[in-house]
Amino acid sequence: MKLTIVGCSPAWPNPGGAQSGYLVEGSGRVLLDCGPGVLPRLREQEPWPRVDAIVITHFHLDHWGDLVPWTFGSMFGPGREVPPPQLWLPPGGKDELGRFGEKLGFAGMFDAFDLREYVEGRSFEADGLTIIPVRVPHYQLQTYALRATDGASTLAYSGDSAPSPQLAEVGRDADLFLCEATLKEGREGGDGLRGHLSADEAIAAFEESGARRLVIIHRPEELPLPDGIERASDGDQYEV
Ligand SMILES: [Zn+2]
Repeated sequence: MKLTIVGCSPAWPNPGGAQSGYLVEGSGRVLLDCGPGVLPRLREQEPWPRVDAIVITHFHLDHWGDLVPWTFGSMFGPGREVPPPQLWLPPGGKDELGRFGEKLGFAGMFDAFDLREYVEGRSFEADGLTIIPVRVPHYQLQTYALRATDGASTLAYSGDSAPSPQLAEVGRDADLFLCEATLKEGREGGDGLRGHLSADEAIAAFEESGARRLVIIHRPEELPLPDGIERASDGDQYEV
């Protein structure tokens, strides 16, 4: 499968960057997360993105925000000519999008997608990919990491996560592990809640996983990485 980094900025965008969006192409096209900036990037390639499925890891805006303009383009713009993608959501996600719709446009606006909900730990099929959503700790928000395989190779994606043994399970022997490293150091605010990884914590999760290749994502541009550690940039492509 081919992986394109559409956007990999953290919660605030890197200069010129798009936020989370990872396009996996094999027998079909599956987009993992759809943060702000992802839709215009995809539109640089074709008038309106033809993707078979979109999978959302959690409802922080930087991971789903461009679903909002996507609905408008689907209803009133060039997306009218394109079959609606499946939109795979965390459990309870249809109701959550319903509430967002009432605030951001109108109730039911997200019916522009073919809405689905995945189940924690249960694999689902998204156009030739088998995807397992694994719950990870991310402050107090329901959040999933994703493990996607086409039968020949496996891609692991941390989503946003605090340090957790689940990360090594998601990445177990994967061909490529996309792992976030948002933090400068492995500590956050004074309330004891954790939601992200430092570079050292991401490297530790990768080493424990046995995955073949680590690519760091969701990293503020101003934070360096240790020598020899690979950082994704928007537009990068990988054969997985
Ligand atoms: Zn998040």
